[in-house]
Amino acid sequence: MDGAQFSFFDDGTWSGKIYTGGWVDGSGGADEVTAPADGAHVASIGRATPADLCAAAKAARAAQPAWEATAPADRAAILNKAAEILEANAGELIPWIIRETGSIPPKAGIEIEHSAGFLRAAAEAAQENQTQTLASVDGRGASEELIRVAHGVVGVISPFNFPLILSIRAIAAALATGNAVVHKPDPRTPITGGVMIARAFEDAGLPSGLLHIVPGGADVGAAMCEDPNIAMVSFTGSPEVGAKVGEACGRNLKKVQLELGGKNALIVMDDADIDVAASNAAWGAWLHQGQICMATGLILVPSATAGQLIEALSTKAGHLPVGDPAKEECALGPLIVEAEAKRVEGIVEDAVAKGATLHVGGKPNGTLFPATVLSGVKPGMRAFDEEIFGPVAVIAEYNNDDHAVELANMSDFGLVASVIGTDVGRARDLGMRLRVGHLHINDQTVTASPLAPFGGRGRSGNGCRISGPALWEEFTQWVWVTTKPAATPYPF
Ligand code: NAD
Repeated sequence: MDGAQFSFFDDGTWSGKIYTGGWVDGSGGADEVTAPADGAHVASIGRATPADLCAAAKAARAAQPAWEATAPADRAAILNKAAEILEANAGELIPWIIRETGSIPPKAGIEIEHSAGFLRAAAEAAQENQTQTLASVDGRGASEELIRVAHGVVGVISPFNFPLILSIRAIAAALATGNAVVHKPDPRTPITGGVMIARAFEDAGLPSGLLHIVPGGADVGAAMCEDPNIAMVSFTGSPEVGAKVGEACGRNLKKVQLELGGKNALIVMDDADIDVAASNAAWGAWLHQGQICMATGLILVPSATAGQLIEALSTKAGHLPVGDPAKEECALGPLIVEAEAKRVEGIVEDAVAKGATLHVGGKPNGTLFPATVLSGVKPGMRAFDEEIFGPVAVIAEYNNDDHAVELANMSDFGLVASVIGTDVGRARDLGMRLRVGHLHINDQTVTASPLAPFGGRGRSGNGCRISGPALWEEFTQWVWVTTKPAATPYPF
């Protein structure tokens, strides 16, 4: 690392601190962040309390009006600069992402690359003129405008799996549209999900008071939903916690955006190239150890070609090394904590006990869980019914296209589906019958774009989307302004 890079992310600046009007002590003391691969100390980070959250929200509210009044081009310049800073310092940041989140280097690289993409897309969007002119219906000569205004302060809560992207996509959208932000990263990944973002915006020249990072647990997240200075909460995480966040925001009449889980089907059509389908399924099911909301959670294959697909996937699984990506070359790193590995093992055992076949993997070693292939999976098995969030390729057979659609639509989730087949029109027609927010023909399920509205149906969210056109839809609200050249009298 050269001197310039070191000075950007020097942990002397942020160690043991929270970020609220600068790097300061959190009232909750400090927490140790440990590496999921071996439990080694990564860094110390300040712990915020609900009182810190309230103080941050108050300061954010005071700072927000001046930011909304700032020229869009100037807001955009800061977002673009933050993107540049992340990319310029990728060499220093990537090892932190690898250690803190258990990512293999390419996944850590994706975090930087996509986060920069979300920042740039938000910068571009910030400069769009969203004002509309309406025809005046009552013929009284008023000019009528629809103007989008920021909500005020947006609270962001993010998960552990892709902490940089999933925090930045909401923070960038909120700042681009003139909001201030109070952000609570997951306590297991506060460096990638918090400190990096604060440092990038700090160096990019974001005025003080507009971005607060308050690492902490459920108590801080819950306080965010209650705080009167926070107008909207953008939450990414599990449906269980999302339901609590939605309930608290509803009680407090706050806008809430929920980006939740997925049980994403990949349908292999009867005319598909099985080797290519297996490669897509492997990437979708095992990237980042399956800890992705868009992970391929159910592989549906015709009975006639199931054997070929199982063999191809099992061969791949057997060749994928599992280890500590900070120390060795591997394809799969650790799960976030050992309890998660035990939970995933329980899902595999449940399937086997109910008649599924385990071809490879299935047994964890601490937080390490190998690429696993299960076939003969049926409704009523946890592997079929639940989001696994671990590296398990779940294979179920179908008899005909209608049966494939029925099986895919059995899930309460509705985030992503993929269909792989040679006849693209037929694959697309089948795909359009699936109840999802993203549909990919001839691709696997883990695909995102800063220009596309991200989000799902059913239990995958509350009907909101994030990014693309959803940036303005979600992070602002309308004001209807009518202007008459002069006031005129009414009948009384
Ligand atoms: P989680 O719901 O346990 O935690 C998410 C965040 O919520 C964390 O910051 C946590 O500290 C916070 N939190 C916990 N209790 C809270 C409470 N009572 N009030 C407010 N905040 C609270 O999720 P996780 O296990 O970290 O992440 C995995 C889940 O996230 C999976 O279901 C996955 O599919 C989902 N996810 C969804 C997306 C998406 O964009 N749709 C992306 C990634 C992950």
